[in-house]
Amino acid sequence: MVKKQFSVIGLGRFGGSICKELYSIGHEVMAIDLSEDKVEEYGQYATHAIQLDSTDERSLINVGIRNFDEVIVAIGDDIQASVLTTLLLKELGIKKVVVKAQNDYHHKVLEKIGADVIVHPEYETAKRVAHNLSSDTLIDFIDLSEEYSIAELLATSKMNNRSLAELDIRAKYGVTVLAYKNNNHVNIAPSPDDLIRLGTILVVMGHKSDLERFENAAF
Ligand code: ADP
Repeated sequence: MVKKQFSVIGLGRFGGSICKELYSIGHEVMAIDLSEDKVEEYGQYATHAIQLDSTDERSLINVGIRNFDEVIVAIGDDIQASVLTTLLLKELGIKKVVVKAQNDYHHKVLEKIGADVIVHPEYETAKRVAHNLSSDTLIDFIDLSEEYSIAELLATSKMNNRSLAELDIRAKYGVTVLAYKNNNHVNIAPSPDDLIRLGTILVVMGHKSDLERFENAAF
């Protein structure tokens, strides 16, 4: 792993978790918050924990924010502070600014002022959990775009002991099997003769409507 330098501004639930996670992976993390209590709490989960107001450009410059390639702005409710902080960071030349958005308006403004990545953690988690709850076979998915996804699906009895050639998934559904997993063994180069068994996890890619068709018909 390449050790990177991150700064996390705002140590609420989201920013705090990001900070702990990045630090535990082994990255260098400068944690920033307005609240002295938060700074004290996160002292053990960051390389440096600093109390400052991120809407104050001087303070950001003084702590050497310009040395960081990636800064995460996780200021929650104070949208004005989040926007101003993002603007300052982009003006100071930070290459990648990742910002947590509270709502669609906030998102639009962040987009306009040059935020590089905008995340909606609550919405994204809710979407994932809802999809997982509504399906007995969907284990996980990644949206590649508005239209395409990669999904992990659990093979059911309908597919048991049938080869990929027999199942003919691409021709029937337009869905590509990228890999499959039996117990802990992952095969990343599936061949037509490979047998799918009950409990095999298929990693498939395709248009969302095709994936849905495949999930409904094949399972
Ligand atoms: P979450 O919804 O992720 O829990 P919160 O709104 O609870 O987010 O937390 C946001 C954090 O950002 C708080 O700890 C708050 O002190 C901090 N914060 C708010 N404004 C500033 C600012 N101007 N500079 C630095 N930190 C700030």
